Amino acid sequence: MKKSYKIKEIFYTLQGEGAQSGRPAVFCRFSKCNLWNGKEEDRADAACNFCDTDILGMNGQNGGEYKTASDLASVVNRLWSSNKGKPFVVCTGGEPALQLDEDLIENFHQLGFEIAVETNGTLPLPIGIDWICCSPKGSSKIVIDECDELKLVFPQKDAMPDKFSHIKADYFYLTPMDLLSTKKYIHPNQDDVTQEAIKFCLNNPKWRLKFFIY
Ligand code: SF4
Repeated sequence: MKKSYKIKEIFYTLQGEGAQSGRPAVFCRFSKCNLWNGKEEDRADAACNFCDTDILGMNGQNGGEYKTASDLASVVNRLWSSNKGKPFVVCTGGEPALQLDEDLIENFHQLGFEIAVETNGTLPLPIGIDWICCSPKGSSKIVIDECDELKLVFPQKDAMPDKFSHIKADYFYLTPMDLLSTKKYIHPNQDDVTQEAIKFCLNNPKWRLKFFIY
């Protein structure tokens, strides 16, 4: 059966997080996540309860249901405005691994795109992705054991850095929870969180403190 892709929004911007910070990219935000249904009334009981993104529906800029991988890749390509340098697409969500497949990856590659994915790490990824950023959430089981960057919102009671010591990555980042953009979730001890993260990185130099760019 031919698969379609449910997309929340697609837009051209600068990557604001992680090792690729500041790099121009087309963001392709897939609708839905497997760790939260996106409804406020269910947030408290979700496996991930501090999400700062609207992950429901397809009502954002260039959002919609794309019938084919080619249709979706064409829109992403149209938004890559510079025609200079290596085109770069960041597949994010929601959880992109729910929908991202080899057909779409092939279509992006045929257009010359380098493909990054931002995943919570709980689902297997198709082969061919060029840059994997894994950001574990809560007590969810991680199936990825290798990625380019491991990014943790800190602190999370059930997802402290030591839990992921088996994962191979080139970059390890902590982002203090109080700096998240969400207005819906504020860490109860927000004044202390950045200091805790700084202390952790000083004691564990593999990990670096990273802030979002807004
Ligand atoms: S895993 Fe990511 S997309 Fe899913 S609910 Fe958590 S923060 Fe949001």
